Amino acid sequence: MVELEEVQSNYGRLKLFIGGKWVDSQSAHGQPVVNPAKAQTIAEVPFATTSETDKAIESAQSAFERWSRLPVTTRAGYVFRLKQKLDEYFEDVSKITTQNHGKIIDEARGETRRLVENVEAGCAVAYTLAKGEHLDQIASGVDETLVREPLGSFAVIGPFNFPSLAPFWFIPIAMVLGCTLVVKPSEITPLPMQWCVKAIEEAGIPPGVVNMVHGAREVNEALIAHPDIRGVAFVGSTPVAKSVYRLAGEHGKRALCQAGAKNYIVVMPDADLTTTIPTLLPSFFGNTGQRCLSGANLVAVGEVYESLKKKFAEATARMKLGYGLDESVEMGPLVSQKAKERVLSYIDKGVDEGAKLILDGRNARVEKFPKGYFLGPTVFDNATPDMTIARDEIFGPVVSIIRAEKLDDAIEMINTKTNYGNEACIFTSSGKNAREFRRSAQVGNIGINIGIAAPMAFFPFAGFRESFFGILHGQIDCVDFFTDKKVIASRW
Ligand code: NAD
Repeated sequence: MVELEEVQSNYGRLKLFIGGKWVDSQSAHGQPVVNPAKAQTIAEVPFATTSETDKAIESAQSAFERWSRLPVTTRAGYVFRLKQKLDEYFEDVSKITTQNHGKIIDEARGETRRLVENVEAGCAVAYTLAKGEHLDQIASGVDETLVREPLGSFAVIGPFNFPSLAPFWFIPIAMVLGCTLVVKPSEITPLPMQWCVKAIEEAGIPPGVVNMVHGAREVNEALIAHPDIRGVAFVGSTPVAKSVYRLAGEHGKRALCQAGAKNYIVVMPDADLTTTIPTLLPSFFGNTGQRCLSGANLVAVGEVYESLKKKFAEATARMKLGYGLDESVEMGPLVSQKAKERVLSYIDKGVDEGAKLILDGRNARVEKFPKGYFLGPTVFDNATPDMTIARDEIFGPVVSIIRAEKLDDAIEMINTKTNYGNEACIFTSSGKNAREFRRSAQVGNIGINIGIAAPMAFFPFAGFRESFFGILHGQIDCVDFFTDKKVIASRW
């Protein structure tokens, strides 16, 4: 067992990053930042005042004038230096993510790795732009060319569960394209982004290109409403995504809102359970179930039900809980006491609605950290797709096993019993079943014998129905989000 050391035990009152400088907020409002494994305060996050938020926007806007005029290769060069700095800070960012969010260190490293991949994809965007669109001689002596121009300054608003990766679905691409940013990380888990912004500063990115303010709803609304912000890239829950999308619309802004999820995992009778079960565990319990691509409902099709239930519950019961900086730990705590209470209330609801609790995580304890927000893996059997636990996003380590007669029944549940459409996965050894599933399931991300279908940086981070609001998605799709198109007809 290797227990890693925390980077710092306390990070003090966090600063804002405005115009290339770390600034002490004058705000009287804020909240503690907590290590959820220890239930211990490790920092304080101030909620920026209106004038501080305005200053961050002003700084992004004035940097835009210079930044957008630099050659694209120069901007890509800066972003490449950022990649090198993030490589240097890889282990620190990962450990801070575990300390602040609770996810185990391997999951935190996975997040940071994906973040760096997004920076690499951002550098490559420079070359995507080179493909251009041009047609000579559209009429006699007339040529026509399409160019993409950066739109201006944007707001990026992040969720608690992927505190650094989610903002990085947008930051590198926006930078290479010539846009400037005001980033507002989650107030619950602001520390990983604090470290990434330190990397931005040390990479020598010109002042004002990336600014960071802290806060919650008020700060976000001020950002979206400000006339110098051209649009908002948001990642968070569905109710908030809807309100952000609406507010952006009222102000005539572009909005890209990645939202909540309730994901189905379907296991067919022809699936190989020896390879399926180990894949299911991280899918349902990775990040302690606090992931927009987590499995939530496990659908057993036909005769696989008994053996799937038995093997899944046995493997799940063996999972080791604890502080994620201990490398032997397999699942960390929930992010906060409030999150834990919310998940507990869903477990009560499941029992009340008649589902059968075959693994009850409510009494799980971690001896060394008795105050931590731990909850053991919890499995319901005899769930039906109409139950609250099968419809609502619980965002915790709770699985509902649902029976289906045929594949078509499972697909119908996915398409009609939830309003979300983030992800669905199938485990099968039949290409025919897999093809039918990928064509019929109305979700943005499909896994075939994969339990977490996370798209790589050079694919869009898809999402259907109430899991997404907008047209262009995170990652590579946002080349068109941050730019506008200009068409030039010329006669010589
Ligand atoms: P959240 O919606 O509570 O908060 C997200 C952000 O919005 C935070 O920065 C928060 O400060 C801000 N916010 C909160 N209320 C607001 C309001 N009324 N107006 C404006 N801003 C507000 O989400 P969370 O709990 O931090 O994150 C978890 C959620 O994010 C889950 O629903 C998860 O499925 C979703 N998520 C989705 C994706 C995806 O790609 N689809 C990825 C990660 C997380």
